[in-house]
Amino acid sequence: MPETPERQFRANAYPYLAGLARPLGWRVSWRALGVRYNPTLRYTLEPDDLKLLLAEAKRLKPDVVVVNERLAPRQLAALKARVRYCPLGEDFPAHFAAFVRTVDPAAPAAVLDDPDLLETIEPEFPREVLNSAPWAAHPLMRVVAGARCSYQTLADDNPFYRGLKLPAAAMPCSFCGTPARDEGVRDPVAFAARHIEAAARRRGASDAELRFELIGARLWRRLEDFVAELVRRGVRGAELSFMPRIDEILEAREVLRRCLPALAERGLALRLYGAGVENFSPDENARLNKGITAEQVHEAAAFIAETRTRWPHAFRFPDGKLSMILFTPWTTLADLRVNIDHIERCPLICARAVLGSRLQLFPGRPVALLAEKDGLLAKKRKDGFYNSGCIVSADQSEIPWRFARPEVGLLHELGRGLVQHYYGERRADGPQARALAAAAAAAEARSPKPLAAFRRAVETLERRPRTRSLPQLLTLMLQS
Ligand code: SF4
Repeated sequence: MPETPERQFRANAYPYLAGLARPLGWRVSWRALGVRYNPTLRYTLEPDDLKLLLAEAKRLKPDVVVVNERLAPRQLAALKARVRYCPLGEDFPAHFAAFVRTVDPAAPAAVLDDPDLLETIEPEFPREVLNSAPWAAHPLMRVVAGARCSYQTLADDNPFYRGLKLPAAAMPCSFCGTPARDEGVRDPVAFAARHIEAAARRRGASDAELRFELIGARLWRRLEDFVAELVRRGVRGAELSFMPRIDEILEAREVLRRCLPALAERGLALRLYGAGVENFSPDENARLNKGITAEQVHEAAAFIAETRTRWPHAFRFPDGKLSMILFTPWTTLADLRVNIDHIERCPLICARAVLGSRLQLFPGRPVALLAEKDGLLAKKRKDGFYNSGCIVSADQSEIPWRFARPEVGLLHELGRGLVQHYYGERRADGPQARALAAAAAAAEARSPKPLAAFRRAVETLERRPRTRSLPQLLTLMLQS
């Protein structure tokens, strides 16, 4: 369980694996170790954590240990048990029975072949945190009640993708690998409510707020039924996180207004997170096939601000959390200007933090095929390892790409430097970091806006497009 309770990749199915104990006669224990988040997702347990795990294995003598991260083989070998890496992500309902067969080849087909298998299992939460990592104590419980997102458009409707040989006629956002298949859960409302009720029962007398992440576009569309079902089951004191798109938030405004009084009365809260603008430039937005306009973003931001003020406990939308992909292989200076103007208008975007954000390409995704067609793939990237959040397993690696316009590459380098300057745990040192800090201070002295230095850099490059290095750009910025 890396660093924050939110990062528990491939543990979605654990409550159902634990719930199989009764029908299959297993003895199941669920143990968690909080570890420091590593963006490459390659973990080696600290010696003390390994000792805790080995002591637990010695005590429990398991036949099989199911792990959700690929730990170092020598550490796993020390467990002296059959180890199964659980690859089940958000599409786990479709692959659950097949995975169970790898854990227990003797599991009876009569149980596993039941088409309603997941709906019949009572989810269990026998989880114990072995170490004292503070973020492990208050976990986020993920309930997968179907595919996260159902957004798809016809590739032929998008001029950038028309005629490109894509794997299917319909496409989601062009960079996204979220599974769209919606299998395994017949009634998302009943399924999610049962899961939450089971977790709430385990809370006992504690009045600490439980935290759930609800995954399922069909569930979001039935929010009102879901809230009514939670009320009927007497669930109280929980935060329910959803990740709707911006257009889905706009569509749900009336439903939200109707649901919030009932939620507030029971100490329940809705938390919306992870909605993406991606890019305010119409061309960039179309290449990303996002299908969200700048007007929709500002309209949603106004609704969110008003609703947060009215329901400060029951409606949560953290500031700065609208996500963006600011840089792509095709980005122009004009695209960046459009983005700066809109970002400065939108309080839900963390202006300085998005300056380092860039597109990641992965095999088979439409935008990777577009970049290949446009000759923008590269042998290697120069900016080192980066994880926008799209890398969720150690087996995944991105396809390197290059900027069509070298001056935009300089702005990306500057953007990453500014993020380090404003947010880095340690301020970078050296002549370039000092020049960057001086340029940022000079720009901020003239304009209090958060993107002052970045705007000045764009203006400088508009005047001096042949600038080819960051030190040269920083010098020009200070002179202008
Ligand atoms: S990026 Fe978000 S909105 Fe777009 S397809 Fe993926 S999950 Fe859906």
